[in-house]
Amino acid sequence: SLSNSLQSALNRLRGKGRLTEADVQEAMREIRLALLAADVNVKVVRDFVNRVRERAVGQDLQKSLTPGQQVVKIVYEELTELMGGAQARIQMASKPPTVVMLVGLQGAGKTTAIAKLGLAFRQHQHRPLLVAADVYRPAAIDQLKVLGKQIDIPVFDQGADANPVDIAKASLAEAERAGADIVLIDTAGRLHIDDQLMEELEGMKAAVQPTEILLVVDAMTGQDAVHVAETFHQRLGVTGVILTKLDGDARGGAALTVRAVTGCPIKYVGLGEKIEPLEPFHPDRLASRILGMGDVLSLIERAQERIDLEKAKEMEARMRTSSFTLNDFQEMFRQVRNLGPLDQVLKMIPGMNRMKGLENIDLNDRRFLRMDAIISSMTPAEREDPSVMNASRRRRIANGSGTTVREVNQLLNQFEQTREMMKRFTGMGKRMSRRGAMSA
Ligand code: GDP
Ligand code: MG
Repeated sequence: SLSNSLQSALNRLRGKGRLTEADVQEAMREIRLALLAADVNVKVVRDFVNRVRERAVGQDLQKSLTPGQQVVKIVYEELTELMGGAQARIQMASKPPTVVMLVGLQGAGKTTAIAKLGLAFRQHQHRPLLVAADVYRPAAIDQLKVLGKQIDIPVFDQGADANPVDIAKASLAEAERAGADIVLIDTAGRLHIDDQLMEELEGMKAAVQPTEILLVVDAMTGQDAVHVAETFHQRLGVTGVILTKLDGDARGGAALTVRAVTGCPIKYVGLGEKIEPLEPFHPDRLASRILGMGDVLSLIERAQERIDLEKAKEMEARMRTSSFTLNDFQEMFRQVRNLGPLDQVLKMIPGMNRMKGLENIDLNDRRFLRMDAIISSMTPAEREDPSVMNASRRRRIANGSGTTVREVNQLLNQFEQTREMMKRFTGMGKRMSRRGAMSA
């Protein structure tokens, strides 16, 4: 899937503290292939990759704490931007009712979306009226009526012999009579775009002057859907898109392309056949889901704010020369402590992600504080050279820090393990040091 292949392209960068031009090129190549395979428009892909590359190069990644993560962040931001940036809301008429026309090909999910949209509006204390203006398929009117009954929202219809433009006009009067403040008009679709349908929809638009014309697009149809969207937009001036069937095995291309090609924001997404309130579309959330990032982004930001880059680099340098002391050990923990979920944070700190021994420690906050207290109770000489640490010194430190001799021993063991590991890395020669032996 798109998600898998993008993630694997980026995962290789994520752990790196030094990025070569070749690393970035290779990642960009993989990202390009992943997007094309997901049926994203070729031009959109080209622009996207160029923007990411430009930013990645322009940023001077080496100055950043976590260069690999920076690229991930850039990709995330550009994906979000591609899908419209911020969430796009439905515009409400200054004088009710707000009139929303749903248009799109047959089977795209218009009728289903009307019902779901009705639920979403009612949830926000609106009084929707659903309008059955698809008179061509005999079952279409019944389908909407059944849905309306199911969710207890009124449906306006004039039977299958009425003219769709007349139905739409009459529905406004009905809305006023019934006190509905939002009118959702279901329209006919065709299997393909045809002129007659477009003319009818244009007529309807002129008659009711809708606040919004939402194009319903089936995400499963990928790029085709986007071409359809272009045509609808040219004829009708679409104000937004509802992307349906995103629950299926859609390859993601429509979600990533439709906005860039038509300029119309995705406003809602359909995630199933079941009638539930339609979900507003959040570009940032989908981007983060595609990249499988969860909270990682906010952690990157916090790390940038709170980790002292100079100190971290100094520490890294000392690690390499194996002059790593208990002072450094303490500093390391102090830097990490403010950041949040520690298993995730650890992976981002220069050096930490390679220290297998540390990964296994259960680093809850209380434990951090105790470790900090233990080191604080040592004399400067003890911190520089723990080999002086005999039994009586250990007892003194335990008493001074309000911990036990066992905890003091544990901490010293962890420190030794960490230092051992660093020596091993330092001894690994050119291959490691070229990439940064302790790089995150
Ligand atoms: P219309 O012709 O555009 O009005 O499309 P319909 O609303 O009748 O939907 C066509 C089919 O797609 C129906 O079987 C719906 O249940 C199904 N459908 C609509 N929206 C979704 C969705 O978000 N996810 C899935 N899986 N199916 C959907
Ligand atoms: Mg329908």
